[in-house]
Amino acid sequence: MSASPPAVPESLIAGIAAVVGKSHCVSEPEQLRTYECDGLASFRVTPGLVALPGSTAEVAEVVRLAARAGLPIVPRGAGTGLSGGALPVPGCVVVGLSRMKKILEIDFENEWMRVEPGVINLDVSRRLSAEGYYYAPDPSSQSVCTIGGNVAENSGGAHCLKYGFTVNHVLGARVVLGDGSVVDLGGAVPDSPGYDLLGVVVGSEGMLGIVTEVVLRILRKPEATLTFFATFPSTDEAGHAVSAIIASGIVPAAIEMMDRLAIVAAKAATGLDWPDVGAALLMDVDGPLAEVEHTSASATRLASAAGALEIRVPRDENERQLMWKGRKSAFAAVGRISPNYIVQDGVIPRSAIAPVLREIESLALAAGLRVANVFHAGDGNLHPLVLYDARVPGQEKRAEELGGDILRICIRSGGSITGEHGVGADKAPYMGEMFGEGDLDTMGRVRCAFDPENRFNPGKVFPTPRLCGDRPGVYRAHPTELSGQADRG
Ligand SMILES: Cc1cc2nc3c(=O)[nH]c(=O)nc-3n(C[C@H](O)[C@H](O)[C@H](O)COP(=O)(O)OP(=O)(O)OC[C@H]3O[C@@H](n4cnc5c(N)ncnc54)[C@H](O)[C@@H]3O)c2cc1C
Repeated sequence: MSASPPAVPESLIAGIAAVVGKSHCVSEPEQLRTYECDGLASFRVTPGLVALPGSTAEVAEVVRLAARAGLPIVPRGAGTGLSGGALPVPGCVVVGLSRMKKILEIDFENEWMRVEPGVINLDVSRRLSAEGYYYAPDPSSQSVCTIGGNVAENSGGAHCLKYGFTVNHVLGARVVLGDGSVVDLGGAVPDSPGYDLLGVVVGSEGMLGIVTEVVLRILRKPEATLTFFATFPSTDEAGHAVSAIIASGIVPAAIEMMDRLAIVAAKAATGLDWPDVGAALLMDVDGPLAEVEHTSASATRLASAAGALEIRVPRDENERQLMWKGRKSAFAAVGRISPNYIVQDGVIPRSAIAPVLREIESLALAAGLRVANVFHAGDGNLHPLVLYDARVPGQEKRAEELGGDILRICIRSGGSITGEHGVGADKAPYMGEMFGEGDLDTMGRVRCAFDPENRFNPGKVFPTPRLCGDRPGVYRAHPTELSGQADRG
């Protein structure tokens, strides 16, 4: 069931349709339901209207019209977010960027490219591949998620351990602000003078403005990449192997961990002949061939010393791709072993992987639930998947409580409530557990400086919208922001 949205004035529908074209202005209730959630499908709100602009000028005009009507705006890429970031606010205008998918310019000599925000992450590397280049951040959703969504979430991926997150690969952005004005932040030349406003926008979860162009750093493909798959009796040994490899000075391109349940799910989805073991690491080492051979020999020695049962090296590129497919499809694969699951995302120091996974396991046991783990081990970025059956009374609630307890373990161990999926609507209640009042006030002031009317994505990230409200004449909350927002589907 969805919350019924306040009606959007016909004059606004007509005005927006005149800007973006009738077929790109969605107002029919049945069609609006397509946009009622992101990847976190347990929260659903039907938007008032969806506009699908085709250019920066159209985005700016849509923003002006929505602002004049006093409506909140929710930017949306592919809707794969896992924190309810693109969850509509009742009565809002969703601005979908999926039509803006042009690659505008590539400068190989200076190693950058300019793209529209609706370009799919994997299409960037596909376009660059023949020239020997690629775009490094590789979320597991990379075949569907957009660059705009990646920028808003500061997305990570398996290979961000060595190469850095999205923020390290965005040189510039064009942003439409809440009054419809357009600003350019950063640019193709590194290190713009003044405050790093680009750095503020990357990871701002669609709350400061709408990104309509992005300048991306592109990299030359490494000469060689060696991959190995190591199995372990349990996550304890696998966790120690991760710490030992990185402590030895090796920076793998990627080092991903899967526990027993995640391996079972990935096998079921891909047909891989992985053994039934307590844990596995999938690791890439890349660079010049001579260095890679030396490094991967050292890494496999360290994995063996930490208790590896078996170390497999793919026979060819096809087998290597299949191994990575197993890892990248593991979230979705968990749907084969459980009717429902919550994808949690938190960070811990990587030296704490083994004890934290043990603590999570004992909490899960106490709650009568199962947790599968598949995650970016090198970054300490956990993704515990809490499995439950919504048909069993009480299980969903227990799963949510366990998800919350896992976040508290992350905070207690010196980590964070999100590594890459963002705070969105889902984790806003935990921000107060991670940050003090002063920190939240400071973040709120930054938000007010960009978006004084709280136009974009109201009600996300901050546990309460109080700060702008403390500044009379500045904050005007949309009434829907303050009422109970979302139905849980
Ligand atoms: C199976 C699966 C695996 C995943 N694996 C990873 C992973 O490995 N690493 C990772 O980081 N994430 C991962 N994700 C989460 C998700 O794919 C990323 O957060 C991704 O960046 C979202 O992109 P999107 O285009 O789908 O954005 P959406 O979900 O549409 O939006 C995400 C946020 O960005 C805002 N936004 C979107 N476009 C713009 C824009 N142009 N301007 C301003 N704000 C905008 C939205 O308002 C929202 O707050 C995964 C998701 C799934 C379903």
